[in-house]
Amino acid sequence: TEPLLSVRDLKVSYKVGSGRIDAVDGASFDVPRGSIVGLVGESGCGKTTVARALTRVIADNAAITGGQMMFGGRDLVTLPEREMNALRWRDIAFVPQSAMNSLDPVYTVEYQLNEVLRRRGGLGRRDARRRCEELFELVGIDRGRLSDYPHQFSGGMRQRVAIALALALNPKLVIADEPVTALDVIVQRQILDQLRELQAALGISVILVTHDISVVAYICDRTVVMYAGKVVESGTMQATLTEPSHPYTMGLRNAFPDLQGAASGVLTPIEGAPPNLAFPPPGCRFAPRCPFVLDTCRTVQPPLEGIAADHAVACHRAGEAAALREKAARIET
Ligand code: ATP
Repeated sequence: TEPLLSVRDLKVSYKVGSGRIDAVDGASFDVPRGSIVGLVGESGCGKTTVARALTRVIADNAAITGGQMMFGGRDLVTLPEREMNALRWRDIAFVPQSAMNSLDPVYTVEYQLNEVLRRRGGLGRRDARRRCEELFELVGIDRGRLSDYPHQFSGGMRQRVAIALALALNPKLVIADEPVTALDVIVQRQILDQLRELQAALGISVILVTHDISVVAYICDRTVVMYAGKVVESGTMQATLTEPSHPYTMGLRNAFPDLQGAASGVLTPIEGAPPNLAFPPPGCRFAPRCPFVLDTCRTVQPPLEGIAADHAVACHRAGEAAALREKAARIET
């Protein structure tokens, strides 16, 4: 069956001064129905820009300059703003980064849920009240707390409220930007468990944006790995995290020893830093940090290519991935 969302060669740029930053420079990936897709990469790689582009709520100095975002037979890149607006909340809901602090402190959470339910969803007062109670039940908060103000909730609870808000109008796709980043580990697990339950119960798809690959490993079905504005690897968990084919993914994975079992030893982050996106390197953007770099890598950009069903990689050495994985394991330990 066709995916819920199919992104092809998406380009998003920011105007800065007299120049331009190509923050997303040709991203392609699919979101199958009923799945949780982890969009992962280091800070600044363009994850949030992709997530925001999907709802077309982008910064004033940003522009989508190319590509397609196919959703239900329509291309969200070219969809007239009126139709795009009708899709927000109803079909695609966005839980912004630090959603738990984005709730308005001067209104009760019921008031804020009502804004979405009544104004965007057209529900009457009674139906809205019922839906508020339903939503709180769904995310496991006592309905008596609907009349509370955001500051009366803990961080984890506020995040649940933000998730309830996103689910208000039964969207098909929820995009959650770093949903558990500011929370302690135990609360992180609770929120992720709940997100997984809700996804299964409601049959929705989720794009989970995170810099934390252990979050991806914990909850996601698929991974899209971004580096410096490009998708470098995507596929199932098995393909991407168990047997990664891109040296960047190998490095990310090796930096989290708990993903590989107790035997694997020290935590080794990938050396170096991502390139300045205003002046990206001409070839592969990871080449300056890659332990397996060849001459070609410095001059020729590797295209994102399918190397198996459900597994795409942008690396000139993808064919040697198994051997490189072994070497990578030796480098890291
Ligand atoms: P983080 O996790 O830190 O948010 P990210 O992977 O989500 O990182 P983005 O926030 O999408 O990355 O940023 C991608 C690139 O675009 C970065 O180089 C960033 O500095 C730049 N950028 C983001 N927003 C703007 C803006 N409004 N104007 C100019 N440049 C921007």
